[in-house]
Order: sequence, then C-alpha cells, then structure tokens
Amino acid sequence: MELLNIKSLDLAGKKVFIRCDFNVPMDEYGNISDDRRIRSALATVNFCLDQGCAVILASHLGRPDGKVVEKYSLSPIARRLHQLLKRDVILAKDVIGEDAMSKAAALKGSEVLLLENLRYEAGETGNSQELSAKLASMADFYINDAFGVSHRAHSSVEGITHLFDNEHKAAGFLLQKEIQFFGQLIEKPVRPFAAIVGGSKVSGKLEALVNLLPRVDKILIGGGMAFTFLKQMGYNIGASLVEDDLLEDAQRIMDEAKKLGVKFYLPVDVVAAEKFAEDSVSKLVPAQEIPDDWMGLDIGPATVRLYREVLSDVQTVLWNGPMGVYEMDKFSRGSSKIAHFVADSYATTVVGGGDTADLVQRIGVDEEMTFISTGGGASLELLEGKILPGVLPLVIKEA
Ligand code: AMP
Repeated sequence: MELLNIKSLDLAGKKVFIRCDFNVPMDEYGNISDDRRIRSALATVNFCLDQGCAVILASHLGRPDGKVVEKYSLSPIARRLHQLLKRDVILAKDVIGEDAMSKAAALKGSEVLLLENLRYEAGETGNSQELSAKLASMADFYINDAFGVSHRAHSSVEGITHLFDNEHKAAGFLLQKEIQFFGQLIEKPVRPFAAIVGGSKVSGKLEALVNLLPRVDKILIGGGMAFTFLKQMGYNIGASLVEDDLLEDAQRIMDEAKKLGVKFYLPVDVVAAEKFAEDSVSKLVPAQEIPDDWMGLDIGPATVRLYREVLSDVQTVLWNGPMGVYEMDKFSRGSSKIAHFVADSYATTVVGGGDTADLVQRIGVDEEMTFISTGGGASLELLEGKILPGVLPLVIKEA
C-alpha cells in the first residue's frame, strides 16, 4: 500500500500540523515510564524542523473524556520532547482556545508548539467537523504520524484529512513504517511464517486469527485464549478463562487450519493456580489435568520446549499477546522464555503493540526484535485485514 509521502511535500519554511501519538504510560507520580512513542515521532518532527518549518504537535493522553483533567496534561510530554529535540517546546494552555490559536498564529520557522491534550475537547473522539476545521486552520500542511490511534475516526486523525488536498497532507515516517511492515508481513512474508497469538480472550483476536490463517504456516496459541480451544477439544479446563459462546468459532478455526495445512499448536501443560493472585498456591499440570476450580495462568515448561522446537525453523515471527498473566511474576515465566527465544532467533520478529510490546520491554529484549509496533489496537486491525480510517485518506495506491 502506497501512502502520500512526507518527502514529496513542499514543506520548506511552512507551518506543519503533526498528529502524533504521545499516549505514553506514566507511573503514579506522573513520570513517563516508557517514552518509545515519543522517540518514534522524532524522525518526522526533525525532518520538518530541518526544513525550517514551524511545527505544531498534537496528541491525546489517556481518557479525559472531553474535560480538562490536570493529570492528563501534556506538560510531561513537553518536557521530554524538549530533552529529546534539544530545543524549546512551547506548550499551549488549551487545544483550540485563545492561547493555542494565538500561539499557533505567532509560531515562527524552526519553533515547536505542543497543543494541550486533544481529548480535553469532546469533539475529538466524536470526529467533530468544527474541531477539525479549527485544528486545520492552524497550519498549511497536515501530517499523520499517530499510528497508535489511526484505527480511530477521530477529529485530528480522520476528519482533519478532508481539509487538506493531496499536496498538503501525508503520512509521517512512523506511520509509513508501521503500514509497510504489516503490509509486507501480511502480503509477502518470508516463510516459514509463524504467528504466536496470546492474551486474554479469543473474542479480541478472532478476526485477526481468521485473517492470518491463510497466510501463515504455524499458529502457536497461549494465554487465556488457549482455554476456549482446549475446552472445545474436550479437556477439563477447571476455572480457567473461557468464552463459551466462542467454542464453535474455536472449532471452526481449528478445522480451517487443518484444511489449509496450517500447523495449529496449543499448550500441552500449564501453570495452574487456585486463585487469580500472585500469592496463590500454584502447580504445573498437563493441559488435560487442570483440577476443578483451578485456573491456568501461564504456559508450562513442556509447552515452552515445544514452542521453541516449533519456532526453530521459522523465518518470520509475528507475536501478539502474552502467554500468561505476565504482570504477576509468578505467571510471567512462559512469556519471558518465549520472548528470549524470539529475540535470539535469526528470523524477522514483529511484535504487535500493547501488552506484548510492554512485555518485551520489561524483559529488556526490545532492542533484539526486528520491529515493535507502537499500536496495539491499530496493529490488530491491520492483521484483521482492515484499512484504518486515519490511513485511508492518505492512500495513493492499494497493494
Ligand atoms: P489482550 O489484551 O487480549 O492481549 O490480553 C492481555 C492480558 O491477558 C494480560 O493482561 C494478561 O494478564 C492476560 N492473560 C494472559 N494469559 C491469561 C490467562 N491464562 N488467564 C487470564 N488472563 C490472562
């Protein structure tokens, strides 16, 4: 898929509005705990600054639900941007209020203005035309570099694109990279291609699984979603997470895999616990022997060994979703072992955003992965085969 390219725009000395995704995790003291999303936007910001542009940056942070909520202010983002860009970053007091509009109007070449949290305006998530028009009026050019929110038809992501012609809008470098990576993965992966799919539920990943099936050679299932498949196979899964309404879908997926010759792997053993808690009693059991009232919260060592074997000959790995409740140390071993193995492999390794990105970062193997997406929900929608609403207006040619 070819997108309108930032490099083709006549940007020199102009005013540019860049929609970024600075929705970064913060600790309880308001410190940024992972600034990957901010660092990922620097290529586009610096490209514009190098051309003497006046740069207006805009992002959301958290869910302030259309109200000004102090803890969601972008001021920590402004400080981090200042450190990373090594230049002053002006923070507007509002989004389209008097302060933002006057600062945007007065902004000179090579200066950087950051608007306050876009979601302080209720119109942002409602794709309000009025908000789009106000934001668009600030600049000559619009750049979307906010992959993580491009699956949302929001005012600063979708609505605003209709107010610029093709000579005045484009995808930033991060958005281009994300779309190209997933495009390549879906359309022409180097084989053998394995998808490791985990996380809590089948329902969240059902469409992605269905779309991936004809494209992959192997699927390895982990996490809570495994139990719906295991139950459908007739196993006693105790009190493990299960979606009874999706048992038929689970069967359909396993049948389809068989029909297509895709190897479909489920955990053969699990770490079972008496309750969903770090201090719970736990034990290793074969997947067929989960005691009543116990729940499987991680894959066991036999599954790790099996998955390692299965992954040993693959050339491309896509990983979306943890293998267990990785937030609790006791149930993080399976995810951590798989993360190390994937990181050490010579395959092209692509990590879907969200929890899996967080997981590989915590374990410290993020630098070893070929590509870590900045968008969990957005990357999942790409895997489902959808064109994202924020990307569609920037498409020149479909693949
Ligand atoms: P998702 O958002 O669907 O990718 O799911 C991620 C969440 O799944 C994480 O918060 C994990 O704690 C959770 N998870 C993974 N394995 C299990 C499991 N066996 N039982 C319950 N929750 C799980």
